Amino acid sequence: MNNLIPTMEAPKKSMYETVLDQFNSTADAIQLNPDIKRILSLTNNEIIVHFPVKMDNGEIRIFKGYRVQHNNILGPYKGGLRYHPSMDINDAKALAMWMTWKTSLAGLPYGGAKGGIQIDPRDYSDGELERITRRFTFALGENIGPEYDIPAPDVNTNEQTMAWIADTYMSTKAPSVRANNKHVVTGKPIGTGGLAGRDRATGYGVYLSLKLYYANLGEAISGKTFIVQGFGNVGYWASHFLTKEGARLISVQDAHATIYSKDGIDVEKLSAHSKPRMNSVQGFGSAMEIPAADFFTLDCDFIIPAALGNQITAANAASVKAKVIAEGANGPTDSAGEKILLEKGVVIIPDILCNSGGVIGSYYEWLQNRNGEIWSMEEVLVKIEKKLSEAFAKVHQITLEKQIDWRTAAYILAIQRIETAYLQRGIFP
Ligand code: NAD
Repeated sequence: MNNLIPTMEAPKKSMYETVLDQFNSTADAIQLNPDIKRILSLTNNEIIVHFPVKMDNGEIRIFKGYRVQHNNILGPYKGGLRYHPSMDINDAKALAMWMTWKTSLAGLPYGGAKGGIQIDPRDYSDGELERITRRFTFALGENIGPEYDIPAPDVNTNEQTMAWIADTYMSTKAPSVRANNKHVVTGKPIGTGGLAGRDRATGYGVYLSLKLYYANLGEAISGKTFIVQGFGNVGYWASHFLTKEGARLISVQDAHATIYSKDGIDVEKLSAHSKPRMNSVQGFGSAMEIPAADFFTLDCDFIIPAALGNQITAANAASVKAKVIAEGANGPTDSAGEKILLEKGVVIIPDILCNSGGVIGSYYEWLQNRNGEIWSMEEVLVKIEKKLSEAFAKVHQITLEKQIDWRTAAYILAIQRIETAYLQRGIFP
């Protein structure tokens, strides 16, 4: 079955329009200082680099890479690198802005950035991907750095990508400064300064968010049914923790197929099936393939979008049956889709809260490298739980006090922290 995802092709708002809609409506609601509103509406730096790479057949190809640094009033820029055919400067701007709100909401000493390369990594060999990554790092030069801008994995990049970046960055520095610069990136493999538990941090945070949400209602995760879009790092780990606690995963959609089983999909078996097939869930024997357009309409307790942005829109929001959406991906719900969902009484646990376990984990990896410490996985998961639960409780409190939705409450907290920093510091000179 040709199961390419129609929701990706329908005309819709760009992610940049979505993040600006979200920011503007909160800024107006809280009467944000107009000067600070103008500063935050724009990105500080937008870097585009072109760089040549030798392919396996000897041909030289030129690639385009992006790094957008939105804001750094609270600390160094922080955010992932995405390798995807749809990646462009506008996506990088939107994703960088979301990082600013996310790090602020989590109470981290970071700003927001995002970047990547417009490629489909499946078109390249491992050797070519390594050379593309290393030349991209070299081209970015001093635009990244452990105290300035710290990338991390995102869609189609992983701990191997981060190890190549760290190695390239350190190898191109003078020997005297080379040794302790590996915190130029987070999400590294454990043997290269990575943090035990960083691999599962985002999915763990999605699971915790749902657990906390249902606990507030006096309900348990166990027995709930759910569906997941994207079975990569975030989708897999969120499903792992949720099913371990007794929830039932009934459908998974990825870039290749949509599969369904009302009796439940075994997460570990699906992972074992998809890994050797270039991470495709297609052909998984214990579930049937269904049309992609049916996915968001499935009857279940909650949905975890954990793939790309702008998946739930005016085109499909009305047919959503789930009562809760836990945003693992960045920007999966656009403003028109959100309006319809909120009117239907669907609760959206917003990306800047729900998937913040990843950047919280990255913060501890950065601290661990900086301080020369090594923490165990148990210690790390406890640290992530503490920070995420604090942010969750504050957002929940605001939803109750002001009788508003979760995204607006999260934005209020995130933007007010930044506003306070600007008002205290003033504008140089
Ligand atoms: P990944 O590359 O590991 O997995 C991406 C998944 O999305 C894959 O299963 C892929 O098949 C699927 N996908 C791609 N295009 C799709 C389409 N058109 N329709 C349906 N599925 C599609 O990426 P990831 O790291 O798991 O990131 C997923 C999302 O979570 C992204 O929005 C990312 O920005 C966000 N996020 C990731 C992290 C992290 O720590 N990795 C942290 C916070 C937020």
